[in-house]
Amino acid sequence: MFYVCGQARGSLVNSKTIRYAPFMTVTVRFAPSPTGRIHIGNARTALFNWLFAMNNKGRFIQRFDDTDVARSTQEFSDAILYDLHWLGIFPDATEYQSRRFEIYDAAVEKLKAARLLYACYETPEELDLRRKVRRTRGLPPVYGREALTLTAEQVAEYQADGRRPHWRFLLPNFTSDPLQPERTEIHWNDLVRGEETVDLASLSDPVLMREDGTYLYTLPSVVDDIEMGISHVIRGDDHVTNTGVQLALFQALGAEPPVFGHHNLLTTASGEGLSKRSGALSIESLRETGIEPMAVASLAVLVGTSENVVAVQTMAELAERFDPAATSKSAAKFDPDELFVLNRALLHHMPFSEARDRLIVLGISGEQAEPFWLAVRGNLDRLADAAIWWRTLRDGPQEQPDFSDADRDFLRQAFDLLPEDPWNGSVWKEWTGRIREATGRKGKALFTPLRLALTGQPSGPELADLLPLLGREGTLARRP
Ligand code: GLU
Repeated sequence: MFYVCGQARGSLVNSKTIRYAPFMTVTVRFAPSPTGRIHIGNARTALFNWLFAMNNKGRFIQRFDDTDVARSTQEFSDAILYDLHWLGIFPDATEYQSRRFEIYDAAVEKLKAARLLYACYETPEELDLRRKVRRTRGLPPVYGREALTLTAEQVAEYQADGRRPHWRFLLPNFTSDPLQPERTEIHWNDLVRGEETVDLASLSDPVLMREDGTYLYTLPSVVDDIEMGISHVIRGDDHVTNTGVQLALFQALGAEPPVFGHHNLLTTASGEGLSKRSGALSIESLRETGIEPMAVASLAVLVGTSENVVAVQTMAELAERFDPAATSKSAAKFDPDELFVLNRALLHHMPFSEARDRLIVLGISGEQAEPFWLAVRGNLDRLADAAIWWRTLRDGPQEQPDFSDADRDFLRQAFDLLPEDPWNGSVWKEWTGRIREATGRKGKALFTPLRLALTGQPSGPELADLLPLLGREGTLARRP
């Protein structure tokens, strides 16, 4: 048997442009379970969807897969929205699966009526035992559909014992007898990975509903993708096998499936996956560390693709570089330290107009704010560090440097040579020219003590830029 899915909607024109039927609005969704804070790997999925929507003038739905009501919380949903906004993602709509159970119940009735959902009474221990037996017989460890062979008496007995059924979806991997599954390939043209195939005979019929009537992820996801008009499902490649099952479910519910795309997952340099539960590399922690949103977005999107990882200044520019088909198939290893490199690069080029409001929050305002920003931005690891330089320029070095007698004599002589007001743009050049001539010092021997006296630091922004900010009075106040 042979199914081909997900191709009817678009035809690939080149690797970046996909032509769709004119009536179709591209609609994507980002669907985390709100069971923790999102990390940079989740941000990759969200951004792939967001950039895809941007490039196709589409809609982005924020969907919370919160059917697991015991582990999902409103606080985590809110925090995820906050993190998305911080990254520069503004959903067109926000949906919660926990508020949509009636819609899933209706789909269940439809599947039951079509005899595609069947009741099973096995306990986890019984299933485990069966799997072991199958393995020893050299059979694949999938569910053998024993529940389909139960007699009415056996069912009555289970029910009398107080057992409640869980419900499995009958995968279409047989011709007429479900107990004789046969190889059934489901094919789709993956937006990221190209031709993909899943053999439905290699899978167990998935449980869609638990004993207590609660839903597992599979059915609500498909029902919502149908109901919300999702045209493209872009998610991590840990869902490739699910896609085989879900394509069958779309078909069972009489719906045309969306186009699927599965991107590679991010792992740390040692190959470890990221987990929402551990909080490692959460968007929250990166924000608190002072990493810029576009540094996170640049790395999250460009790593593990054929593009170079560079600091991209705006989301619009990142969208231009984004091409799902340029994503590699293997895991995308990354080094968190790269975030700091990208962060510095972003700050070094950040125009004042972009920094202004954030500098005001740090207490940096007035007519000196712009020249100050242009002077210090090239030396910042984090934007908030600008406050340290601002304080240093306003109040003097935090700690008075310890000068040798020779350096102190040199500095006193140097400060006496400071040009008179009014200063122009070349005051630094003029001053150091005078010092060189009078003292004979040059290079490091000249500059290091001056820098230490003026800033208290052995390195930092160009002194030529800082001097006009200090002014003549401010400079003289630093004479040791
Ligand atoms: N809640 C699922 C997850 O976080 C969503 C997967 C999907 O996009 O369908 O993995």
